[in-house]
Amino acid sequence: MVKETTYYDVLGVKPNCTLDELKKAYRKLALKYHPDKNPNEGEKFKQISQAYEVLSNPEKRRIYDQGGEQALKEGGGNGFSAPMDIFDMFFGQAFGGRGRGRARERRGKDVIHQLSVSLEELYKGAVRKLALQKNVICDKCEGRGGKKGAVETCPACHGNGMQVHIQQLGPGMIQQIQSMCSECRGQGERINPKDRCKQCQGKKTIRDRKILEVHVDKGMNDGQKIVFGGEGDQEPGLEPGDIIIVLDEKEHEMFKRSGSDLIMRMNIELVESLCGFQRVIRTLDDRDLVVTCIPGEVTKHGDVKCIMNEGMPQYKNPFEKGRLIIQFLVNFPATIPPEVIPQLENCLPPRPESMIPDGAEECLLMDMDPEQEARRREYNNAYVEDESDTGPSRVQCATH
Ligand SMILES: [Zn+2]
Ligand SMILES: [Zn+2]
Repeated sequence: MVKETTYYDVLGVKPNCTLDELKKAYRKLALKYHPDKNPNEGEKFKQISQAYEVLSNPEKRRIYDQGGEQALKEGGGNGFSAPMDIFDMFFGQAFGGRGRGRARERRGKDVIHQLSVSLEELYKGAVRKLALQKNVICDKCEGRGGKKGAVETCPACHGNGMQVHIQQLGPGMIQQIQSMCSECRGQGERINPKDRCKQCQGKKTIRDRKILEVHVDKGMNDGQKIVFGGEGDQEPGLEPGDIIIVLDEKEHEMFKRSGSDLIMRMNIELVESLCGFQRVIRTLDDRDLVVTCIPGEVTKHGDVKCIMNEGMPQYKNPFEKGRLIIQFLVNFPATIPPEVIPQLENCLPPRPESMIPDGAEECLLMDMDPEQEARRREYNNAYVEDESDTGPSRVQCATH
């Protein structure tokens, strides 16, 4: 039981989520609310970053779980990093981003897009077409913004892009305010309106629609990035950044992926558990696998078995596959007609003889939900101290 769930709620995860689930939730939301895509959602972007910063750090998460935001503040942990730093760190770290040295100063920004892919696509491989809008250098004026020679130094700021205003605050007190030059919008140069390029209105770049063919290779992973070098927005004088596609694996209704293994649950009836069964599993590439449990073998509730080489293909080595792991769940009948019990008893291993001492007390067995009990117990541990042995989870007996 955690004290507050605000940070978990912001990321849309449960308080018992794993670090992987946390990373996935952050990745999804950070890309969605990134200021480049959602300039009006700066506050949301900040909240997501703060929540991730706290919860991804085991020590901070422990403090938060125990005492909420207040405890973090008291522990001196209330200093948050800038949201963009967390974003850069996450995407740099999570994908082993290349060196971001001085060379980057002359490069445009990388553009990150998330692409939702099914488990089938990651298994079989796929080519996905993605339509994007991007800035390209205007071909009419070749990025000058106007006719050759039409560009002149801005007379208002003499080319430095800034204007200085002097304000008299009081006798003998003046204030210098530096602001971006309004004449040239900080460019330091301007183009006579009549010489402006008609196609880009002097902006030097135009929006263009671009179709990217994204090759999703067999065995690629959730969060893996596919880089299109130099395909980012173009800007005169800058080397364009990259377009980075981040794969987002959709949940599958039958299979759960764990590294190169696939995990599934199979519900079988009690009769199948005791007398054998045959079942068909449809694979991600639409083949049918028959699994057989021969009569005489018993499959117990919770048994785990696996089929070799029917898991996910390995990235760059797709003929090597992981395992398909099957967890068996036995459906027990809710009741059994009493008249068939003697027959059943004849077939099953004998029941042990039980000796009931004189004076034994008769008890009533109550139904109980262990999950609910566990929650209640945690709640009590958190709020009632020194009474740990009177918790509600003791077996209750009632005589009748
Ligand atoms: Zn100017
Ligand atoms: Zn132009």
